Amino acid sequence: MGRTSKDKRDVYYRLAKENGWRARSAFKLLQLDEEFQLFQGVTRAVDLCAAPGSWSQVLSQKIGGQGSGHVVAVDLQAMAPLPGVLQIQGDITQLSTAKEIIQHFEGCPADLVVCDGAPDVTGLHDVDEYMQAQLLLAALNIATHVLKPGGCFVAKIFRGRDVTLIYSQLRVFFSSVLCAKPRSSRNSSIEAFAVCQGYDPPAGFLPDLTKPLLDHSYDPDFNQLDGPTRIIVPFVTCGDLSSYDSDRSYPLDLEDGSEYKYTPPTQPPISPPYQEACTLKKKGRLAKEIRPQDCPISTVDSMPQ
Ligand code: SAM
Repeated sequence: MGRTSKDKRDVYYRLAKENGWRARSAFKLLQLDEEFQLFQGVTRAVDLCAAPGSWSQVLSQKIGGQGSGHVVAVDLQAMAPLPGVLQIQGDITQLSTAKEIIQHFEGCPADLVVCDGAPDVTGLHDVDEYMQAQLLLAALNIATHVLKPGGCFVAKIFRGRDVTLIYSQLRVFFSSVLCAKPRSSRNSSIEAFAVCQGYDPPAGFLPDLTKPLLDHSYDPDFNQLDGPTRIIVPFVTCGDLSSYDSDRSYPLDLEDGSEYKYTPPTQPPISPPYQEACTLKKKGRLAKEIRPQDCPISTVDSMPQ
């Protein structure tokens, strides 16, 4: 596969490079903002699960005008620096990371918390949905400590079997909860975004890091909410038919007449997990599978059974 084939198959990947975004995800946040005006009046924001940093790029460009905004970005992975963005490397489900984030907003709360976190997908849908829900709840827990009243929380959500339970929990804290699907998010993916506006915790609610928002023992009856307890939130698609369709392949010369020119990634990964394999391969030292038929007879004979 040539280096241009991904540009052809994934128009948002290509446009991200051409527009200087570190990842195609930038378009998801931009399309969510077009629909919900997320950045209006925002000067302080938290970007959870931020690497490689395209949402942080969008936030630092859009909020507070002329770089006066304050963005704190957090991820497990190291992220190349971005001007005006304070970075924390850590796991958002860990108490120590949560505390570090919260201390930046003491006395000066945030207007917006976003979380585009995704676990390493296993392909086992129940496990993936559960992991995703845990990330979202960890993000929500942090949001309850740093958001100002009326603030906004946007988080990636997998629209799986138990999603109504999550909507119910979000509705406890926000006056409006919607499920949004930006046009740049593939139809084939169960990913969507919970857009929660109007932070308004219940009277007397005291954020507490020692108590997770979700009791980890899933109660099967509570999990199957129905009747009056079942919350169905509105589903909104963001970006109209004039936006590119993320599930389509496009010819390399776009319809606006612009001529195709390959653009390298804006920010190559700084320490990708495959780096060691690449170095070994370059040195010709990448281990190859040893098949018995390739071994000299004497070695095969002495191999343990
Ligand atoms: N919004 C990002 C952007 O625009 O560049 C892309 C985020 S990427 C889809 C998902 C990120 O979630 C990964 O960088 C991953 O390291 C991070 N992540 C997953 N689990 C995490 C955790 N427990 N704590 C912090 N980050 C986590």
